[in-house]
Amino acid sequence: MDLGLKGKTALVCAASKGLGKGCAMSLAREGVDVTITARGAEALEATAAEIRAATGVTVTSVACDITTPEGRARTLAACPAPDILVTNAGGPPPGNFRQWGEAEWIAAVKANMLTPIELIKATIDKMIQRRFGRVVNITSGAVKMPIDVLGLSNGARSGLTGFCAGLAREVAQYGVTVNNLLPGPFDTDRLRTNTRTAAEKSGKTFDEVWNQRMAQNPSRRFGTAEEFGDACAYLCSVQAGYITGHNLLMDGGHYPGTM
Ligand code: NAP
Repeated sequence: MDLGLKGKTALVCAASKGLGKGCAMSLAREGVDVTITARGAEALEATAAEIRAATGVTVTSVACDITTPEGRARTLAACPAPDILVTNAGGPPPGNFRQWGEAEWIAAVKANMLTPIELIKATIDKMIQRRFGRVVNITSGAVKMPIDVLGLSNGARSGLTGFCAGLAREVAQYGVTVNNLLPGPFDTDRLRTNTRTAAEKSGKTFDEVWNQRMAQNPSRRFGTAEEFGDACAYLCSVQAGYITGHNLLMDGGHYPGTM
């Protein structure tokens, strides 16, 4: 299916690895010129080169921390008016809320709620003027099914979700859609790091914890960044123009509810 995106531009944040990279690659395969960001310049340049070689589109890279005003300013200078905005950043650390103070909460809210909102604020009015735009926020399955040790993520991402639910209705009339993609367990560096931490805490091996988690998922596997990226590309497509304000959970069936 031709997704109708050839020649469009996308800003994909936190995209040198994992889910962000998957989104950038899938959009590039549809002929979208992409700007990608990450803090580590080396991995970012390697990913930019990989996407260029695989797709032939123009790839611009901005090495910066997207959760800072300076990082966002540099990113938006490189890509001031994208047709597609994919927001993403690292997730907050796990822990117990009794140990978190204001500083921890502010860091989480800045990274996983205010950063996407600032990026949307800087780009959405230009989408409205062009009568086409797509915003996709990478959030988490924890928004729908909270994870006890990820209270910072549960809280901050739910704030973004609530804001975007209202925004989606405001901008729908201009051909601009706003949706969230909610990853369950995907095989990325982050999942491997979390698994290593869980293994160390429980005295089990990495493989034991990894395989146990996989066995608990109805699909008996973890998702791939490629599957995630393709879902993102579909949400950005011309065909998905009537899908807005949604939270698409991708978790292999892990969430146990009917809807
Ligand atoms: P990942 O494999 O660790 O990749 C994270 C990417 O984001 C890297 O390119 C990293 O590069 C970049 N990044 C992190 N913090 C950044 C920042 N402040 N500014 C710019 N770039 C930044 O992680 P992932 O699994 O793709 O996860 C992506 C998001 O989905 C996270 O918020 C995570 O919490 C959420 N999530 C993931 C899963 C899962 O199973 N994988 C499940 C639920 C939710 P640098 O480190 O070089 O900056």
